[in-house]
Amino acid sequence: MKIAVFNDYRVGVVEGDYIYDITSAIPNVSHSWPPIFMTQAIATWDALLPKIKQARDNAKPIALSSISLLPPNPCPVQIVAAPANYRKHIAEMGAMAVTKKSRSAREQGFFMKSPASLTGVARGIELPRGSGRRFDHESELAVIIGKTAKNVKRADAMAYIFGYSCLIDVTMRIVKDIAEEERVMRKSFDTFTPLGPWIVTADEVIDPQQLSNQLFVNGESRQSANTSDMIVGIAELIELVSSVMTLYPGDVIATGTPEGIGPIKAGDKVTICIADVGEMTVDVRETDATPLLLFEAVQS
Ligand code: MN
Repeated sequence: MKIAVFNDYRVGVVEGDYIYDITSAIPNVSHSWPPIFMTQAIATWDALLPKIKQARDNAKPIALSSISLLPPNPCPVQIVAAPANYRKHIAEMGAMAVTKKSRSAREQGFFMKSPASLTGVARGIELPRGSGRRFDHESELAVIIGKTAKNVKRADAMAYIFGYSCLIDVTMRIVKDIAEEERVMRKSFDTFTPLGPWIVTADEVIDPQQLSNQLFVNGESRQSANTSDMIVGIAELIELVSSVMTLYPGDVIATGTPEGIGPIKAGDKVTICIADVGEMTVDVRETDATPLLLFEAVQS
């Protein structure tokens, strides 16, 4: 099943080029902030399924082309992310790497992105206006957690997954020895985590470690790899993270980017495409205001 959140916080099931509104089967869907209904629904999904299927059968098809897609979980408790999880990406980082000695996710562990940095097709990516800094795309498979996970062993980890989505980990690069801000700040500007176009439930993905992961900017191929090249695989990531902190239903794990990262600018259209999951194109714009970036403050 492909589950999307659209328009004014409606919930839908996507089939082909159509979406079927199942909002009536999801408790507590509301326009009020915070939009935690998907986090709650994922936590109780199996119990909701009979109502969801009934709502789907009663719904009329709505053309996907006529709706606006929001992040499929607009308010997870946490977004956890793997740094340096593909060898060729570690190699390409060179002087832009934050840590020494080509350390991978196995040595670095994980970091967090602000859940409030999520965005969808409807809003797209907003880069700080007038910044001279470099902002990159990172094409990543997102894992959506389905059950509360603490100290989960690798062999059991896949049973904790609700589904998968496409995630672009937008990142402000450091300028070595001049501007080396904290990773969380560089990756947590508003709209720096496009997620979507929907969550595909885990039962529809035969092997999440055998998926092509592609990203295009204005139709030009930038990243093309396979999730089989991850250094720390999905099950090991869940084992690692859950040994430190509890993962909650609806939480998002960004599994790291392969090689081919590169800059994006206002006016670009960025397309992420992950096999068995989906394809999503987001527009890049500029914000109305210039943020106080440390490096630019030093320059002036
Ligand atoms: Mn990343």
